[in-house]
Amino acid sequence: IPGSKNIIKPESEISFEDIGGQKTAISELKEALDFVINKEKLSKMGIRPIKGILLTGPPGTGKTLLAKAAAKYTNSSFIATSGSEFIEMYAGVGAQRVRNLFETARNLARKENKNSAIIFIDEIDILGAKRGTNESHHEYDQTLNQLLVEMDGIKSDGEINILVIAATNRPDLLDPALLRPGRFDRQVVVDLPDKSGRLQILKIHTKNKPLGEDVNLEAIAENTFGFSGAHLESLCNEAAILAMRDNSDVILQKHFVEAVDKVILGEKSDKKPAE
Ligand code: ATP
Repeated sequence: IPGSKNIIKPESEISFEDIGGQKTAISELKEALDFVINKEKLSKMGIRPIKGILLTGPPGTGKTLLAKAAAKYTNSSFIATSGSEFIEMYAGVGAQRVRNLFETARNLARKENKNSAIIFIDEIDILGAKRGTNESHHEYDQTLNQLLVEMDGIKSDGEINILVIAATNRPDLLDPALLRPGRFDRQVVVDLPDKSGRLQILKIHTKNKPLGEDVNLEAIAENTFGFSGAHLESLCNEAAILAMRDNSDVILQKHFVEAVDKVILGEKSDKKPAE
């Protein structure tokens, strides 16, 4: 696609087993995806297909991972983009990109010999904010309209089935038109992990790391209240770096403990003063 260098990402091998915690989100998502898988049965029953699923929740909780796992689960091609990719100074460019996105997804599925494609749109609020609230946002309106047109055009008996999965941490900002039946009418909440979710995520991200005998991931999970999956991934990485600096062959508990502080401090220094 011209001018959209970051739109296409390689099809992933992420599956639901690679996602820690999020039990409820995974089962709700699977329930919706089973509709996609059993498409023929549904159309016999006259049930309309699911076209859009909205994942809501704080950053770094695994929304992108869930969308990738959804592609694997449904044997669909996967294409990822972000709302920010559609915002341009020139009128019509955003709308054209939306058209290209759907076309590219269909072409990709054909190329990969699949009969469905999942389009993931991160930060949907950037292009899907309530229309007409600000005149200077006229360009966003056209882009949003085009997205609605494309979604309304998805047919259950189409050659290639398209499912749009969108993510936002501000569902309150979305134009209600997006949430109407036949659009993003399924919402799945992807919250921060609880203690057992954190433990699962820590286990996933230490699977390929050498751990010392004194390592107690349970204690780390206990002491990381409020951490997202992304924080926990970064924590495991930091702990390994600290171990390496110590010339230790294995990661010890003290490295994890120190890494917790580093992640917390890093988070604080990333924050703008206004937040
Ligand atoms: P954002 O809203 O900021 O785009 P997101 O919710 O889409 O975030 P991801 O991109 O899926 O978050 O997660 C970022 C990284 O954090 C992942 O690549 C993974 O390493 C780690 N991660 C996040 N959540 C989980 C989880 N539930 N299980 C395992 N790893 C996770």
